[in-house]
Amino acid sequence: MAPFELATPGSLQQAIGLLDPEDPDIRPVGGGTAVMLMMKAGVLRPTRLVSLRGIEPVYSQVSIGTNGELQIGGLTRLATLEHSHLVKEGWPLLTRTLRTLSNVRVRNVATIGGNLGHADPHMDLPPVLTALGARVTVTGPQGERTFPVEQLCTGYYETVLARDELISRVIVPPQANRPAAYMKVTTRAAHDWPALGVAVVLDMQGEQIRTANVIVGAATDKPTRLSGAEAVLKGAVPDDAMLRRAGEAGAAELDIVGDPHGSASYKKHLLTVYLGRAVRIALDASARKDHA
Ligand SMILES: Cc1cc2nc3c(=O)[nH]c(=O)nc-3n(C[C@H](O)[C@H](O)[C@H](O)COP(=O)(O)OP(=O)(O)OC[C@H]3O[C@@H](n4cnc5c(N)ncnc54)[C@H](O)[C@@H]3O)c2cc1C
Repeated sequence: MAPFELATPGSLQQAIGLLDPEDPDIRPVGGGTAVMLMMKAGVLRPTRLVSLRGIEPVYSQVSIGTNGELQIGGLTRLATLEHSHLVKEGWPLLTRTLRTLSNVRVRNVATIGGNLGHADPHMDLPPVLTALGARVTVTGPQGERTFPVEQLCTGYYETVLARDELISRVIVPPQANRPAAYMKVTTRAAHDWPALGVAVVLDMQGEQIRTANVIVGAATDKPTRLSGAEAVLKGAVPDDAMLRRAGEAGAAELDIVGDPHGSASYKKHLLTVYLGRAVRIALDASARKDHA
C-alpha cells in the first residue's frame, strides 16, 4: 500500500479545508469500510485521508425535529440507527433494512454519510431512503445545501457532491401510516449484497393506492425510480393480476445490468415477482401495524 497522510481534523470546517475540490486522491473517511476495500483492491491510492472520527460526536445525533422528521447526523454509525428506539418506532422500515445490511462488524463502524457518499448501486439504504422521500444536507466551503437523496447518485460510485463537500445530515419524513417494505433478494446469506433490492412506500386511501414510491437497487448504475410501475399501482386496489402487471411494467422500463450476483435476465425476472411481493408485504404488515 502506498504511503498516505492521515489528517484528523477537530471540526467540520477544518475537515472541509483539508479536502481539495480538484484532487480525487484526497478523500474523507467515515467508518472506512469501503475506503479500505478500495485501497486493498488498488482502485484508490489516496495521498491524504481526512478522518471524520474526531468530529463524529457532534454529527452523530439522531433526533426528531419539530415537524416530526427524523434528523440523522451525517456521521451516525449504522449500528446506532439500527438500535435507535426513535427509528424503530417511527421508521420501522429503516430498522428492518439495517438488520440485513452487511454484518454487525461493518454496521458498528460504517456511517450513514459514508454509506451514501460511496454510491455503490448495490447498497440497501439509498433505495429505501429515496422511497421514504429523504433529503440529504451537504456542507462545503460555501455553506449548506439540502436536496432529495434521489438526486445524490449519478452513476457507479458517482454523486453530485463536490470533492470538498461532506454529507452532514440526512432528514427523513415520517413513515407514519404509509405501508412500506424493502425486499432484499440475495443468492447466498440474507445479509449478503443484494442481487436486487426493491423499496416500496405507499400512500393509501382506504383499500386504494393513492400514490406509490417504487425504487429499485442493484439493477442499474444507481438507485432508480420505477415510474411505469408506480403508474400501474396508482389508483389501484391491489390484486394478484395488477401486482404482476406492475412488476412487468417495472422490468420493462429498466435496462437492467447483470453483475456477479445475477444476470440481467435473472434480475428482470426477480423484479417481476418481487415488486408485487413488496407491495403485498407492505400492506399486510401495515394491517398488522408492523411495517416490513
Ligand atoms: C464485507 C462487507 C459487506 C457489505 N455488505 C453490504 C450490504 O449487504 N448492503 C449494503 O448496502 N452495503 C454493504 N456494504 C457496504 C457498506 O454499507 C459500506 O461500506 C458502508 O456503508 C460505507 O460507510 P463508511 O462510513 O465505512 O464509508 P467510508 O468507507 O468511510 O467512505 C465511503 C465513501 O464515502 C466517502 N465519504 C465518507 N464519509 C463521507 C461524508 N460524510 N460525506 C461525503 N462523503 C463521505 C468516502 O470518501 C468514500 O468515497 C458492505 C461492506 C463490506 C465491507
